Amino acid sequence: MSRVAYVDRQYVLHRSAAVHIEDRGYQFADGVYEVLAVVAGRIVDEDPHLVRLKRSLAELRIAAPMSDAALKIVMREVVRRNRVQYGILYLQISRGVARRDHSFPAATKPVLVITSRTRKPTDSGITEQGVAVITLPDIRWQRCDIKSIALLPNVLGKQLAREAGAYEAWQVDREGHVTEGTSTNAWIVTGDRTVVTRKADNAILNGITRLAILDIIRREGYRFVERSFTVDEAKSASEAFLTSTTNGLVSVVKIDGIPVGSGEPGQLARRLCDHYRAHTAAAAA
Ligand code: PLP
Repeated sequence: MSRVAYVDRQYVLHRSAAVHIEDRGYQFADGVYEVLAVVAGRIVDEDPHLVRLKRSLAELRIAAPMSDAALKIVMREVVRRNRVQYGILYLQISRGVARRDHSFPAATKPVLVITSRTRKPTDSGITEQGVAVITLPDIRWQRCDIKSIALLPNVLGKQLAREAGAYEAWQVDREGHVTEGTSTNAWIVTGDRTVVTRKADNAILNGITRLAILDIIRREGYRFVERSFTVDEAKSASEAFLTSTTNGLVSVVKIDGIPVGSGEPGQLARRLCDHYRAHTAAAAA
C-alpha cells in the first residue's frame, strides 16, 4: 500500500510529496504543528488539539487554511487513506510561500501538510521499567507555549539525552526550575503524594496529554499543584514521570543518574497511566 500525504490542498503520494523551496516553514521555521494520536482508527482528543492549533496560529498571526470542520474531514481522510489503526497524525501549517524576506509577505496563503503513519504503542519495557532523563539548561525562546516548528534546541537536547543513554532531557530555566522535556511535559510526586507540574506559562507547551492527566487527577481526587520545581526537588521526589501524545505517561526512574524514589515506576504514576489509557480508548470509541 502506498502512503498518502495531504500537501497544500491535494492528496499526493508520500514518497513524492514536497513543499516549495521558498516555503517560509522551510526557510524561517515560520509555522506551527500538531501531533495527534490515532487509536483504533480514530483521532484522540481532536478538539483540544484544534483549540491549541488555533491559538498557536493566532499568536503568530498566521491565517487558518480552512475551517475546523473541513480540517477534521481532511485529517480523517489522511488516516483512512493510510489505513492507520494505531499511530500518529502530523499536521503542519506554514505562513506560506513567498520571496525570502523576514517580514510577513503582503499576500500569501498558508500551506497545510498532513501525514499519518502507523506507530507501535510505547514499548512495554519503557512503561514497565521507566526511563532515565538528563537535565540541561533551557536555551529556548520565551514563547514555548506556541507549538512552533522551530525545534532546534529541542532536537539538540534530545540528541544529548540519547548520547547520554537517557530517554529524554529535562530543560532547566535560569532559576534552576525544570521547564519541560524536549518533547514531553515533566511531573513529580512529592513525599506527601501531591502531584506537581509547572503551571502552563510561556516557558512550556501546554500538552494535551498534560491537560488530560490534570482532568483525571481532579476527577479521581488526587492532590495536585501547578508550580515550578527544582532539579534537586525532582531528584528527591518519590515519583517522577513525563507525558506526551506519543508517549502517553512514562515513569522517570533516574535523573542525571540519581534514582528517583525506589528507582522503579511509582504507584501513583502507574495508576494515572492506566486512567490515561482508558481515556484514549474512550476517545477512540
Ligand atoms: N512539550 C513539548 C516541548 C512538546 O514538544 C510536546 C509534544 O510534542 C509536549 C510538551 C507534550 O505535548 P502533547 O501532550 O500535546 O503531546
